[in-house]
Amino acid sequence: MSFSQLGLSEKVLAAVQAAGYTTPTPIQQQAIPHVLARRDVLGIAQTGTGKTAAFTLPMLTRLEHGRARARMPRTLILEPTRELAAQVQESFERYGAGQKLNVALVIGGVSFDDQDSKLTRGVDVLIATPGRLLDHFERGRLLLTGVELLVIDEADRMLDMGFIPDIERICKLVPFTRQTLFFTATMPPEIRRITEQFLHNPVKVEVSRPATTVATTTQLLVKTGREPHDKRDTLRRVIRSAEGLTNAIIFCNRKREVAALHRSLVRHGFSAIALHGDMDQPARTAALDQFRKNEVTLLVASDVAARGLDIPAVSHIFNFDVPHHPDDYVHRIGRTGRAGRSGTPPRNIGKESIRKESIRKGSARKRASTARAAGVRMHPPKASTISVTTATAATASTGTSARRGAMAPPHQ
Ligand code: AMP
Repeated sequence: MSFSQLGLSEKVLAAVQAAGYTTPTPIQQQAIPHVLARRDVLGIAQTGTGKTAAFTLPMLTRLEHGRARARMPRTLILEPTRELAAQVQESFERYGAGQKLNVALVIGGVSFDDQDSKLTRGVDVLIATPGRLLDHFERGRLLLTGVELLVIDEADRMLDMGFIPDIERICKLVPFTRQTLFFTATMPPEIRRITEQFLHNPVKVEVSRPATTVATTTQLLVKTGREPHDKRDTLRRVIRSAEGLTNAIIFCNRKREVAALHRSLVRHGFSAIALHGDMDQPARTAALDQFRKNEVTLLVASDVAARGLDIPAVSHIFNFDVPHHPDDYVHRIGRTGRAGRSGTPPRNIGKESIRKESIRKGSARKRASTARAAGVRMHPPKASTISVTTATAATASTGTSARRGAMAPPHQ
């Protein structure tokens, strides 16, 4: 299947070609014709599958006709984090280069007034995080009655972050007749309820998790001491001895740990930068830019800040802390092996094994899937030990193949 068979406009096809894409990914193949046919779409897919282009490209085709009116956006995209919102904006800039579109980003942490003046001029595409969007609405600076198409992206993440009441409110503020595209990686009951309430006869499009991004990586668990300084010491050792490390993301569970570890790494002479939710937006953007441009080697990050970020060519992922949730593990290690790149070792460095952590935090099913996602057999190492798991590298793909090897995490 080629892009030209999907019904996209000439301008959009030219942009796709300029981006160097030759074949649509499965989610693009399945979703784009339905979006163009104005159907509601329920997409079960996570980042790394090409889902951003799956909604951006048909939206651009649709937006070629018609004009935006002051304060009345024509389309609205909701994202859970500022970084994801900014990334979607970049997609519109890249694919929409040949079109005169007004795209506005309405996210927290940056000037309200600049956003307001942009809204006043009229926007074709409004990309927003829920809180800041509602701020504008409550101040009477924004009307949602002109929204023809609503995208809710990373809905399960919105749930984790407590945004569901905001999403429900926003869904009631946009016209009943709008088209809705809803993307989520998992379908917990609360998300199912929302889809039943707000989607009208949706086409369900499901692609497997980017299993190959996991299958093409090697995973290790490294033994360390219990104390934080032991853990940091082990991490430094592992980084120094890592083969082929060009750049890496180091995940911590808490913002405080991100800041502490970042300070420590810098003190020990590493080229590192931090990314967490307490940093203001310009600092977050600057950190990401520096990392993308390879001006720094290590990005120390929390899940919220780093989820779904499209950072090409990350050679290593280090889990300084074992994540609480299986999905976070999958998302973290999904930063390697993206879009055709084969990844090298993600390592878990933690004083507690994945299984131990899961026993405290979750259900039996959850802990089993965390362990499986990590490729860990259910023999927990001792608290001061970290087990090592390696998977044989397999062929790389765009991360959307249905093949699911031993390392592939189960669907939730
Ligand atoms: P996403 O799942 O939207 O975060 O996209 C993951 C990555 O895949 C991004 O770097 C995209 O630029 C890239 N991508 C999206 N669609 C395609 C395609 N059809 N062929 C190759 N790469 C793609």
